[in-house]
Amino acid sequence: KTVDDWPLSGAAASFLSQSEFGHLIEGEIVASASGETMAIFDPATGLEFARCASGGAEDVDRAVRSARQAFDDGRWRNLDAQEKERRLHRLSVLLQQSRPLLMDLDVIDGGVVRAYSEFIVQFGIDTVDYYAGWPTKLQGRMPASPPDVVVQEVREPVGVCAVISPWNGPSAAPCAIVPALACGNSVVLKPAEQTPLTALVVAKLCLEAGIPPGVVNVVQGRGEVVGAALVEHPLVDAISFTGSGETGRRIQAAAAPTLKRLSMELGGKSPQIVFDDADLDAAATAVAGAAWGHSGQVCTAGTRVLIQRGIHDELVAEMVARSRNIKIGSGFRPDTQMGPLISQEQLDRVNRYVALGKAQGAQVALGGEQHGSTGYFHKPTIFTGVDNRMTIAREEIFGPVMSVIPFDTEEEALAIANDTEFGLAAGVWTRDLSRAHRASRAIRAGTVWINTYQRVNPAIPYGGVKQSGYGRSLGHESLEHYTQIKTVWIKIA
Ligand code: NAD
Repeated sequence: KTVDDWPLSGAAASFLSQSEFGHLIEGEIVASASGETMAIFDPATGLEFARCASGGAEDVDRAVRSARQAFDDGRWRNLDAQEKERRLHRLSVLLQQSRPLLMDLDVIDGGVVRAYSEFIVQFGIDTVDYYAGWPTKLQGRMPASPPDVVVQEVREPVGVCAVISPWNGPSAAPCAIVPALACGNSVVLKPAEQTPLTALVVAKLCLEAGIPPGVVNVVQGRGEVVGAALVEHPLVDAISFTGSGETGRRIQAAAAPTLKRLSMELGGKSPQIVFDDADLDAAATAVAGAAWGHSGQVCTAGTRVLIQRGIHDELVAEMVARSRNIKIGSGFRPDTQMGPLISQEQLDRVNRYVALGKAQGAQVALGGEQHGSTGYFHKPTIFTGVDNRMTIAREEIFGPVMSVIPFDTEEEALAIANDTEFGLAAGVWTRDLSRAHRASRAIRAGTVWINTYQRVNPAIPYGGVKQSGYGRSLGHESLEHYTQIKTVWIKIA
C-alpha cells in the first residue's frame, strides 16, 4: 500500500508528494543541521509513508534565536493592533480553505476519524476567530497612585513562547499558537513526533496570512531531544505544554534553572457520575461517546463511569448495545466510527491494562481485546465490577477502555469521583438541580459538565487541577499566560 492508494484530496496528494518534511525556521523550510530524519507512520496500516526532519539542540537554537530576533525587533509585537487582527482573520480564512488538507493529514499520521477531524479543524478555526479579536482589546490599568506620580500597569507580551504538543489532536495546532500571537509573542512550536505534518501547514499559512517570518517557527523531532532543548534554552520565556504528567514533571524540573513561566495541560481519569434520576437515554449515548471518542485518546475521556446501583444493569446493557456494532477502521472510510490507536506502543499499553483489569477481577462486558492484526486497533471495552482501587481505575490508559463502578449514595459517588490524583474534568447526570450544584461544588476538577460532556468553546477557559496541570488555555484566561504586567512610574511633580 502506498500513499497513492488513499482517497486523498488534491491538496493532500500534492502536499504528500514530497517524501521528506522539514522544520520551519525564519520562514524557511529547512533540514536538520545533522541531516537526521525520522519515519512517519499511518496508524491504520502501520506503514511508514514519509520521513520528517529529526532536530537537535542546534536546530532548536536556530529557531529560538529567530523567534527572539523577531520579538526583539518588534516586527509583529509592534504592529498596529488592528493590523494584527486583520492578519489573524486572514489566517482563519486560509485555514478554512485548507480544511481538506488538514483533515486528510489528521487521518494519515494521527489516525483520526472524519467526524473528529472535522470537529478539531473547525475548533482550530473558531479559536483563531476568537483570538483574532483580542489584539485591540488587550489593555493595562492606571491604579490609584500618590499625587506626585502617574503609574501605569502596562500589559506586555512575554517574549518567546515554546509550545510543546501531543499527538492526539494534531489539527489543534492553531489553538495552541494563536493566543500567544494575539498577545504579540513569537512562537516555537514542537509538534509530537508521531504527528508532525499539520503544524508545518499551519505555520506556512501564518506566513501567507502576513505574520512575519521568525514569529512562528516549527522544530520537529523527539521530545527528549528537541523538547528538552527548548525547555532548557535561556532565550525561551514561557512554555505551554500539553501531554502526559510524566513529561510535565520532567519539564517542570528542567525549566527550574531558568525559571520559565509554565502552563501544563496534562492527563486525566475523569469520572462520569450517573444518578438514578438522570435521562438515561441521553446519558447512555454521551457516556459511551466520551469513552470511545478518538479511541479513548482524549485527555477528558470519561473513563471512570460511576453508576447508581438501581440503574446500573440497565445503563450498562444500553451502553453495550450502543457500542457493540461500532465500525472500526481507517478514518478514510466515511462510515468508520472508531479509528486506530496512534502506535504499536500505545496498543501494547492498552493490551497491558486490559490484561491487568481481568487479572484484578473486573468483568469484561464488552470487547477486551485488540481488533484485527493490521494497524493498531482495539475494540471498545467495558469493564464492570470495577473497584476504584484497581489499576484500571487509577491510571490513565489512553485507549477505549471504560471502567464501570457502582455506587449507592451521592456522598459515596462524590468521594469516589475525587479519589484520584487527577482533576481534569467530570460529568454529572441528574435531573435534580440541587444535586447538580452540590456535585459541581464538591468535585475537584478544572471542568464539570452537567447533563452534557466534552463541550468546549474558544471563549471558555479550559484546564486542570491536581496532577492534571495548571494554567488555563482558551478564553481570556489564556491571555494571562501570554502577557505580563510592567509597572511604569512617572514623576510629575
Ligand atoms: P507525551 O508527554 O509523551 O508527549 C507530549 C509532547 O512532549 C510531545 O511533543 C513530546 O515529544 C514532548 N516531550 C517528550 N519528552 C519531553 C521532554 N523530556 N522534554 C520536553 N518535551 C518532551 O504525551 P503524548 O503521549 O504525546 O500525549 C498523551 C498525553 O497528553 C496524555 O496523558 C493526555 O491526557 C495528555 N493530553 C492532555 C491534554 C489537556 O489539555 N489536558 C490534551 C491532550 C493530551
